[in-house]
Amino acid sequence: MRGKLSSIPVLSFLVVAMLLAGCGRDGDGPAVTAASSKLLVIGIDAADWSLLDPMIAEGRLPRLAAFRAQSSSGRMRTFVPLEKSPLLWASICTGVGPEVHGVASFLKESDRKSPVGSAWYAPAIWDMIGAAGQSTAVIGMWTTYPARPINGVMVSDYLPYGRERSVPLARLVYPDSLSARVVACRVDPDSLQARDLVRFLPPGADVAALEAAYPREMRNLREFWAADLGYLNVARMLKDVADFDLFFFYLRGPDMMSHSFYHYLKDDPASPRNDPQELAAFGDIVRRYYDWVDEAVGEVLSWFPADRPAVILSDHGFHGPRPSGRGTVEHSEWGIFMVRSPLHQAGQSFDRLELLDVCPTFLSLLGLPPAGDMPGVILTGGLTEAGRRYVKRLEKHRVPSYMELRPVEGADVGDDPAVGEEIRKQLRSLGYIN
Ligand SMILES: [Zn+2]
Repeated sequence: MRGKLSSIPVLSFLVVAMLLAGCGRDGDGPAVTAASSKLLVIGIDAADWSLLDPMIAEGRLPRLAAFRAQSSSGRMRTFVPLEKSPLLWASICTGVGPEVHGVASFLKESDRKSPVGSAWYAPAIWDMIGAAGQSTAVIGMWTTYPARPINGVMVSDYLPYGRERSVPLARLVYPDSLSARVVACRVDPDSLQARDLVRFLPPGADVAALEAAYPREMRNLREFWAADLGYLNVARMLKDVADFDLFFFYLRGPDMMSHSFYHYLKDDPASPRNDPQELAAFGDIVRRYYDWVDEAVGEVLSWFPADRPAVILSDHGFHGPRPSGRGTVEHSEWGIFMVRSPLHQAGQSFDRLELLDVCPTFLSLLGLPPAGDMPGVILTGGLTEAGRRYVKRLEKHRVPSYMELRPVEGADVGDDPAVGEEIRKQLRSLGYIN
């Protein structure tokens, strides 16, 4: 997975950047380097402490609670006005705003119909570290179709779609040599059994009866969970392909579940009044989904050494329905952020970091400096003394820009109108598009 880089000028640019950042000696005293240049990232779309904290207090979410005890943790302030997840994750991954990276909505601005491609106008973290010879596995991240060449593996966010096609969509995965193995990881929503689904419903629930009474809700549950299960299968497979320097696992289901079911959870006068039977069936479904997320997170963490630097974060929090409607207005300003590394004090909490601080923080954990054209700063909350010295040094020696590493726009391949409509239908049902 290494040595794929073809552009020598970019590589020498990066070497100079790393030397400047203190990987060599520049007379500032002893070099402080990151203890590891590997990083595990787990993205949980829409995770919010206001949901997680009470669950943890009840003794639920034991793996997330244990990780928090090993981490420095706090709130992540997302963009206000509240935005859509593709824009937010692209900003997290590039360290710049949508006016630079160009991912503004689910659909291309040019025609409002075709989905945004993966060749963003700014380099993502996998491009930056790839130029430094570090590899990435990025799994299910928004706006990554068609999967494009990186130093590592990109499994696009289109994997759950187009299952009825006889031939899978082209470029679901880069490199193509992994396509068959990745496609085999998909989970068909209809293959989920009542005994599996019942974990999200009240004890003893009659799943067949609920599917008959609430077909739309139960369909959503099947589809969202199947997509997350498929990506978990992919991650389980990829962990054995290579020990990637950056392993970036992402779960979209929590946001989808929240948009579909939060109104059953909140005893809020602004929420639509629910039928008592519906409330009984779905009142705890979001929390029960997080019980599953906790298990998935625990499994992913278990694949890596206990001292592997790791971040668990969301792109925004979740408030639930508001009088002004559905969609992004249901998001909240405060997401979550937890970082476990030798540079951070275990069990510490900090007040906040900003969304654009995330990419500089990821870079620092991977041993690279942020760029001068990134508005954010490396998180300083919860650092050890050595961590503070290390971060100070990286901040002092920012590289001017990583922009020349931005991808070239690929050909529009694999545009399947049926798949496009399938995706638009799902986004519409969540109130994201009209
Ligand atoms: Zn959302």
